[in-house]
Amino acid sequence: MKVKLIKKQNETKDIITFTFEPEKKFNWIAGQYIILTIDHKEPDNRGKMRFFTISSAPFQKNPSITTRINQDESSSFKKALTALEIGNEIDAKGPDGDFIIDDLNKKYIFIIKGVGITPFISIIKQLTYENKKIDGLLLYINKDEIAFENELREILKKQSKLRLINLKNLDDTKSYILKNFKNNISKHDFYVSGASIMTLETEKFLDNLGVEKDNQKLDYFSGYKNN
Ligand SMILES: Cc1cc2nc3c(=O)[nH]c(=O)nc-3n(C[C@H](O)[C@H](O)[C@H](O)COP(=O)(O)OP(=O)(O)OC[C@H]3O[C@@H](n4cnc5c(N)ncnc54)[C@H](O)[C@@H]3O)c2cc1C
Repeated sequence: MKVKLIKKQNETKDIITFTFEPEKKFNWIAGQYIILTIDHKEPDNRGKMRFFTISSAPFQKNPSITTRINQDESSSFKKALTALEIGNEIDAKGPDGDFIIDDLNKKYIFIIKGVGITPFISIIKQLTYENKKIDGLLLYINKDEIAFENELREILKKQSKLRLINLKNLDDTKSYILKNFKNNISKHDFYVSGASIMTLETEKFLDNLGVEKDNQKLDYFSGYKNN
């Protein structure tokens, strides 16, 4: 399917949302991803294709992706993405993925770092649009600027059972969980999203705490070196 770039918007200095208009009706479930291919000259060893979680909500109809653009050392793909002009068309495949919410009777803990916020922002926007409440806690890890901060604060006013805690790193997040949830950890479903290394470390931490695999959903954003 072809998709046409219709909007670019900075969320922070380095995090940009790109919104596309699909050539035909496109349905997805909040939390799913698409695969974008950008044909460009002299692609590097990472190639022309990338997976991106859709950061817009299904009711918004047009899929957006939100990504970090490393100003100093971007891949050829990210350079080509940044160079896209409004009206340019690229290829998209999907949607796919199971990082979705299917039971609002459960209690959720989201552990999210940086641009890993993309599935959560889509999920929470869609639930709020449908007037549905989620019982959850968002542990949102950011070193500096926070993507979607204002949007999240607005949504929280309508989501009375959802709390947001801002944290600086994964160690502080682990301490927070140990302090507040050690004795009732099995009552929660954990959704973890961010760079692969952070997600893998969090998975190990949850395994050690005895959280069953059935109660963990993990979105590994491969490609980011660290954080
Ligand atoms: C299911 C899924 C969902 C995802 N959702 C998102 C999402 O919502 N948002 C998002 O941003 N990402 C998402 N990702 C990750 C995304 O697909 C990219 O892998 C990621 O954004 C990194 O992009 P990049 O490889 O273009 O590298 P860049 O972002 O340009 O660079 C990342 C790091 O790699 C280094 N680097 C760049 N090019 C090379 C190279 N050729 N060789 C060696 N090192 C290099 C850079 O120096 C930098 O440190 C998702 C991945 C999966 C699997």
